[in-house]
Amino acid sequence: MLIDFHTHTTASDGALDPCELVARALDSNIELLAITDHDTMAGHKAAEAYHRQSAGGMQLIPGIEFSCRWSGVTIHILGLGIDSDHPVMRDALVTMAAARTERGEKIAKRLVARGFDGALQGALKEAGESQLGRPHFAAWMVEQGHVQDQNQAFDQYLGQGKPGDVKAFWPELAEVVSWIVSAGGSAVIAHPLKYRFTGMKLRRLIEAFVAAGGCGIEVLSGRQTRDQTAHLSRLAKDYDLEVSLGSDFHRDAPYSAELGVESRPFEGLRCVWERWLP
Ligand code: MN
Ligand code: MN
Ligand code: MN
Repeated sequence: MLIDFHTHTTASDGALDPCELVARALDSNIELLAITDHDTMAGHKAAEAYHRQSAGGMQLIPGIEFSCRWSGVTIHILGLGIDSDHPVMRDALVTMAAARTERGEKIAKRLVARGFDGALQGALKEAGESQLGRPHFAAWMVEQGHVQDQNQAFDQYLGQGKPGDVKAFWPELAEVVSWIVSAGGSAVIAHPLKYRFTGMKLRRLIEAFVAAGGCGIEVLSGRQTRDQTAHLSRLAKDYDLEVSLGSDFHRDAPYSAELGVESRPFEGLRCVWERWLP
């Protein structure tokens, strides 16, 4: 069975609009799909109407990818199966939108201090209806000829440890997990190896996450090696966490994974998708 619990649309930093993403997933014979845009459910909501009137057996599961803080690092937590109209979630989405705006203003200030005038207006224009994020600043810098491509923008100005790496506005990990649980969802640690933690620190993150009420871990996230998948499967077992799988699809690109992950190799483990099986 092909599934995908980690995808992005134009509601955050993906290239396909929500309907295009659903159409692509249907074409690929994906059976369970969650749209997990950064800090917004607008993409999911837009996709819902389209999905309802399209034929096919695919289930669309409400999802989100929250940014939060733990031990001074930005961590991403997926919320799957949440009720987007739950009052806790409604407040959470307002909080996150405000946090993103404040963060965008701070990033812009830092870029302007380095001579990049008009950064905020430029990034907002790039973002359009989407949640403002660093990729929009990067796109603006490319468009202005300040950098050659988005990678250079991240390497020099926006990536970890660079001036645009502003994380002070994200809520704490425990708070984000509690929102997801309150709204009836399952919280999943996204791409656990992307934080480049030591083995010990990753275990500490998992322990804090479990203590907060988290229940799942992304064992496969886009392209990764077989060793990495084995490592994460072992952690899932050690902490009795449910396995989640996703492509983290943003766009067609040579370095990124295609939509859809085969679930069969993981069937012996506890799986987050069991609750959506017919
Ligand atoms: Mn993204
Ligand atoms: Mn992420
Ligand atoms: Mn993602």
